[in-house]
Amino acid sequence: MNLYFYKMKNLVFATNNPNKLKEIRNAVSDFKIISLNELNINEDIPETGNTLQENALQKASYIFNKTGENCFADDTGLEIQALNNQPGVYSARYAGENCTPEDNIQKVLSKLNGIKNRNAKFKTVITLILNDKTYFFEGEVKGIILEEKTGDKGFGYDPIFRPNGFDVSFAQMSTQQKNEISHRGLAVKKLVEFLQNKQ
Ligand code: IMP
Repeated sequence: MNLYFYKMKNLVFATNNPNKLKEIRNAVSDFKIISLNELNINEDIPETGNTLQENALQKASYIFNKTGENCFADDTGLEIQALNNQPGVYSARYAGENCTPEDNIQKVLSKLNGIKNRNAKFKTVITLILNDKTYFFEGEVKGIILEEKTGDKGFGYDPIFRPNGFDVSFAQMSTQQKNEISHRGLAVKKLVEFLQNKQ
């Protein structure tokens, strides 16, 4: 394509989470990723599904109905084996409505107090609505829940999650390191490959 006429395509990411935006912008170079703030959309988008897929679809559909723009949304859950895969789809409000990430972390640590099985996994589902069609991409990473918070990077449950094969938590990794192996990084990789084939 003649570079002079090349205009980067917009893709709305149905989030205002600056950490997620940073992660995605690091990974996607062919599209201009637009946040909800940039569109002056500040309301809470409903997330009332019973699965990650339902929530991701609900968020993407909400933004598509409102803007008519190509867009994608993600939903992530932390599944902890010893807690029957909780908090899962309820990861954001595990410690109650309006809780903080710190509250969620403390609840996980106290539920796992004295429990040897620390196996867990992060799972992400991305829903893309592109030219009126809907697509899904998934990624997951297995690891363990640490006994205490370690590291100060990242967000959410990062300080207590150590991916298998590494001796540091997600919160001790750079954005790029985390992207290479993380649940969302893997789902985004699939999204990017798909978008590249659509160019
Ligand atoms: P959501 O996908 O933004 O709804 O996230 C659900 C919950 O999982 C929130 O509490 C997030 O903070 C947390 N979360 C999402 N992605 C990550 C991650 O990459 N690392 C740690 N926590 C995450």
